[in-house]
Amino acid sequence: MKNLDILINELTLWSSIGPKQGQRLAIEFIKNKKETLNKLNKLSNLINEIKLCNICNLFYEGEECSNCKLEEQVLYIIENFNDYFKIYNYLQNQDLKFFNLNFNKKSDYLNNIFLNNIILRLTKLLQDNENVTKISFFTPPSLESELIIKVFKKELKKIFNDRKFLFTKIKIGVPKDLSISYLNIDTIQYIFNNQEEI
Ligand SMILES: [Zn+2]
Repeated sequence: MKNLDILINELTLWSSIGPKQGQRLAIEFIKNKKETLNKLNKLSNLINEIKLCNICNLFYEGEECSNCKLEEQVLYIIENFNDYFKIYNYLQNQDLKFFNLNFNKKSDYLNNIFLNNIILRLTKLLQDNENVTKISFFTPPSLESELIIKVFKKELKKIFNDRKFLFTKIKIGVPKDLSISYLNIDTIQYIFNNQEEI
């Protein structure tokens, strides 16, 4: 059946859904057609309401990005969405301003196209946020991370020659190549409070 095959294929293409699960879902969807269509309709409405900011690369709802509008002095640079959700869930009562690098593998750190685009986004955010005086790298300590911190520092100095930023990173002593998204609240709090100047 043509449409059934397409449906299973589409479901399988969704992240972490295998062909067997795709088949199971397709059967379930068709058996409970009315309920499924209602749910999908609800999902589609929710997806429409959520937008991705092309400056900080985080999600927002409504007219403008609330993270970009936050009047904070510290900007936290995070590696990806997993880390964002982890930190956000733990520290959600605090107004923290983030910038998502959206790096999902180590080689992303060395991808020049990615880096150029990130510097453009970061420049825009800093131009629109004159309050920001401190840029805090919440990226896991690694050689790649050291490298991009240096690149960013150099580039931002060139672009903002009339503004001085304080740069900080996670203190040495924290295991190298840790994944922020696997840390417990105490460790997150620790690395949050133990930043060192660069
Ligand atoms: Zn934003």
